[in-house]
Amino acid sequence: MQGFVTFSRNVFIPLTRVCRNSCAYCGFKRGVDEEGALLDYHSVVGLLRRGALSSCAEALFTFGEAPWVVEGFGDRLEEIGFGSFIDYLVECSRKAIEMGLLPHTNAGVISFSDLRRLKSVNASMGLMLETTADLEAHADSPGKDPATRLRFIEEAGRLKIPFTTGILIGIGESLSDRIESLEAIARVHRRFGHIQEVIIQNFSPKPGTKMSRCEPPLASTMLEAVSLARSILPEDVAVQVPPNLIDPKSLVEHGASDLGGISTVTIDHINPEAPWPRIEELARRIGMPLRERLPIYPKYVRDSWYSDEIRPLIEMLSDREGFRKV
Ligand code: SF4
Repeated sequence: MQGFVTFSRNVFIPLTRVCRNSCAYCGFKRGVDEEGALLDYHSVVGLLRRGALSSCAEALFTFGEAPWVVEGFGDRLEEIGFGSFIDYLVECSRKAIEMGLLPHTNAGVISFSDLRRLKSVNASMGLMLETTADLEAHADSPGKDPATRLRFIEEAGRLKIPFTTGILIGIGESLSDRIESLEAIARVHRRFGHIQEVIIQNFSPKPGTKMSRCEPPLASTMLEAVSLARSILPEDVAVQVPPNLIDPKSLVEHGASDLGGISTVTIDHINPEAPWPRIEELARRIGMPLRERLPIYPKYVRDSWYSDEIRPLIEMLSDREGFRKV
């Protein structure tokens, strides 16, 4: 055990909530004409400014998958002055870098050429595998096809992108599905060496969704999942748990070593009902010191897994070990 638990201080930017999928548990997705469907550039810059003023090091760009295939999205994008969503994302990422924040983008499944383009303006990227099982919860979500997601995670490995993935617990998968999912992630990491962390995330029911009446997983199930992850994943892959969704103390005792991005500026837009705990309070609750990292893990900082465009900022923000400079 390393004697401390890591986290990243981030500002959460839900660039668009429009999505081609319809997951049965999703409370994030919006229609193209609904409020919050697409953030304009002015709003993004406002969030980045708040993040920079609050000493955040990470700009977390999260959005629905392939919003451009949804009817009407192109018109909304044109209204804010952009013809391509990836162009808009690159512009926002460059602004983040200029303001001293390292982008980490959860882009959903995108093309290899878009992924390569995004690598140059991202310190790290992510895509939840969620599960290798074919589940009812994903019946209307073509992008949640496990083989497609695993292929995408491999492509990120080919491009040497420090990568975050994870599994979702309690969406209808079985224990053997969880084991299979973790083994699949471990295999990809052994080939490409790019998985920096695996999130073990508990399903949390959202009002108005198909799964609103489903029970979240038991604490014992989460402990079991974290223990499994720690025993299946290679040692250099961190196990992450979200401290606003579950009390992390016992999960840390079972092998979790990272608390993910904690925002001092914005809510968790995926789980808006779950406020972030205060960082000082978390350390007290866990009974272990917290150490701030960048969105890119120390090992990948030391091994220079980043583009020339992002290099000056990483060098400015990191200490000799690759953690955030204090
Ligand atoms: S892919 Fe993400 S945003 Fe889209 S419906 Fe599923 S959970 Fe919601």
